[in-house]
Amino acid sequence: MSSPVTQVHVPAGHGRTFEVRSGQFITVIDRDGQQAADFVAIVNGQPEQYLSPTHTRRRLNSLFFAIGDSLYSNADEPLLQVLHDTVGVHDANVPACDCTRFSVDFGVDGHRNCLDNMHEGLSHYGVLSVNVPEPFNLFQNGPVTADCRMQVTDPTSKAGDRIVFRALKDLVCAVSSCPQDIIPGNGLLVTPIDIVISDDEPSHA
Ligand SMILES: [Zn+2]
Repeated sequence: MSSPVTQVHVPAGHGRTFEVRSGQFITVIDRDGQQAADFVAIVNGQPEQYLSPTHTRRRLNSLFFAIGDSLYSNADEPLLQVLHDTVGVHDANVPACDCTRFSVDFGVDGHRNCLDNMHEGLSHYGVLSVNVPEPFNLFQNGPVTADCRMQVTDPTSKAGDRIVFRALKDLVCAVSSCPQDIIPGNGLLVTPIDIVISDDEPSHA
């Protein structure tokens, strides 16, 4: 008998915040494909501890992560473990897009952006905009070139691709369907992200 699951729908270009308990499973699904999903997490009730790509890169000795890796907090504690991944291409190196990214780089004021999308829900947990952690950018394709330069290009993910994490602490997570529609990054078409939270490990069939 399976335990009930919670589904969180992240509309295209918007954000959603949700809680998970230690031991639960988080499945993040790129519903239509080629959609980056910025992902941050804070420890529930302890917002000064948060998921940190910087600390994770040091722990993994890598700019990227893979199945079996844990993702670490700024206190060097593992907060999530990667259990399953149908894509294998994610970014752990660039910040969330924010209002200045659009206003300075593209001359567009008031564009939706990942920072505001994630802060919207986290603000109810006392998180200031400046304290929204740096994200892991799920499905985002940010290769490092042979001459050590960073690129952001369109994701390789296809409709229904997913990544599954096990939560190792009680967390508050925020996810943004990246609204970037000016340059490649989401296939120039912003689409929704679906999230499933479950007590039982999802089948990988
Ligand atoms: Zn974004």
